[in-house]
Amino acid sequence: TLTDIDALDFTKGDGLIPAIIQHADTLQVLMLGYMDKAALTETLTDGQVTFFSRSKGGRWRKGETSGDFLNLDRILTDCDEDALLVYARPVGPTCHFKTTSCFGDETAPGIGFMGQLASVVAERAKAPVEESYTARLMQKGVAKIAQKVGEEGLETALAGRCGDLDELHAEAADLLYHLSVLLMARETSLENVLDILRQRHK
Ligand code: AMP
Ligand code: ZN
Ligand code: ZN
Ligand code: ZN
Repeated sequence: TLTDIDALDFTKGDGLIPAIIQHADTLQVLMLGYMDKAALTETLTDGQVTFFSRSKGGRWRKGETSGDFLNLDRILTDCDEDALLVYARPVGPTCHFKTTSCFGDETAPGIGFMGQLASVVAERAKAPVEESYTARLMQKGVAKIAQKVGEEGLETALAGRCGDLDELHAEAADLLYHLSVLLMARETSLENVLDILRQRHK
């Protein structure tokens, strides 16, 4: 974690330090920017990622015109303190071409989609009940959601035992989705589940 701005080496980049921006939940790489000391200080004080733009010739808070801010989670420095890894939660698309990431992908790659699923589920829960299965599930309450997890768990087990792979994939998807809803309904997250697995395997 970044503790001392003054220990950073801004000299190699003529007063600028490169900052890789990564989604705090999905770990998707969102963009690359540069910060001078003032932009970094502003990022830390205000909790919104701010760059030094060479084309604009000055400080630039991402989202200042579009509203697509990057809310700061935490910052890491690299081994020789001349590069930053910035974890943030984007309010909207990070690229000005309106894609999630400047590197193209609309959805988080690989297993990072599990992190994205939690925010998709949270978003769907706010939709009108006529439009959203997730909203209807949430309305029915924890007991009903837990029952669905049980059913999908059983279906996954049966497909795993004797179904074809398409069936196993589909049932496992149902299980992961309903598990995400259950975790949300209990006001917790997959992160807490993964913490336990991490503890067991360190
Ligand atoms: P915004 O910071 O989102 O309000 O966008 C303001 C301007 O900054 C845009 O019109 C672009 O010129 C530029 N910009 C925004 N996002 C990016 C990005 N991810 N990479 C490079 N330039 C950007
Ligand atoms: Zn370095
Ligand atoms: Zn872009
Ligand atoms: Zn099923």
